[in-house]
Amino acid sequence: MDKNEGINPVNVSITAPVIKGRDSKPERVIVRVNDVEIGGNEAIIIAGPCAVESSEQLFETARAARKGGAKILRGGAFKPRTSPYKFQGLGVEGLKMLRDISRETGLPVVTEVLDTRQVDLVAGYADMLQVGSRNMHNYALLKEVGMVRKPILLKRGMMATIEEFLLASEYILNQGNTQVVLCERGIRTFETATRNTLDLSAIPMLKHLSNLPVIVDPSHGTGIRWMVPSMAKAAIAAGADGLIMEIHHKPDEALCDGQQSLYPDDFGCLVKDLRKIAAAVGRHIVAPSGR
Ligand code: PEP
Ligand code: MN
Repeated sequence: MDKNEGINPVNVSITAPVIKGRDSKPERVIVRVNDVEIGGNEAIIIAGPCAVESSEQLFETARAARKGGAKILRGGAFKPRTSPYKFQGLGVEGLKMLRDISRETGLPVVTEVLDTRQVDLVAGYADMLQVGSRNMHNYALLKEVGMVRKPILLKRGMMATIEEFLLASEYILNQGNTQVVLCERGIRTFETATRNTLDLSAIPMLKHLSNLPVIVDPSHGTGIRWMVPSMAKAAIAAGADGLIMEIHHKPDEALCDGQQSLYPDDFGCLVKDLRKIAAAVGRHIVAPSGR
């Protein structure tokens, strides 16, 4: 046992179940997305476009994701854009494309649900539901996805403390859905050089305070393509259970977040490097199947 394990972190005073569970040292939670396990020894790579734009775009990008070593495909059908004048996603058409390309590639799919009224719809197409940063404080939505029997990817609110983040996860857990993955995706600070400030210290802290798997999003965490590999490597070195990254078969033509999306070849090279980092910290990343 780590000699510092009993020391309480500063400013965290949660008495909720995830923390109590930590005291009695139960097993760490393994979240199952079809046959992919998040939270075990294997660090899981999730990759795909920011938004589903067309069948061709999704298929080409999904192929690159699988070839490079991703185990789960990401892609937004309903997009929470800061500006109402920007591409809002293809909606149900996008969900259908995700389902079809998931079947074609064999990759399970994670996609965002924005609204309580869409939970059953999205759950009918996706293998994992994402609650995004802007909705981390949407308690009605958290409760609703807590009633669904699908794993949930909960992203940290851009202004949320660790305590608020963990309490948000408990809204889901308290409804009976224990299949929750926490995702650090950067927070707002005074810094403007990057889109967000990726809080890598959240990885060991969240793992110290809860039993849930923790993954990192270096794409939204930096907003800058060339920074993504460094932060992805740092996240795996710091103990993340996986990564979610934006990639695109033609990032320069992307309708959303092209500036932070990796090119397919660079993604493949990155995953090779990540396998070495994972091995150095006692984890592993399975090589692509070559399909
Ligand atoms: C996303 O992953 O598509 C997204 C919108 O991320 P976030 O909620 O972290 O901004
Ligand atoms: Mn995005």
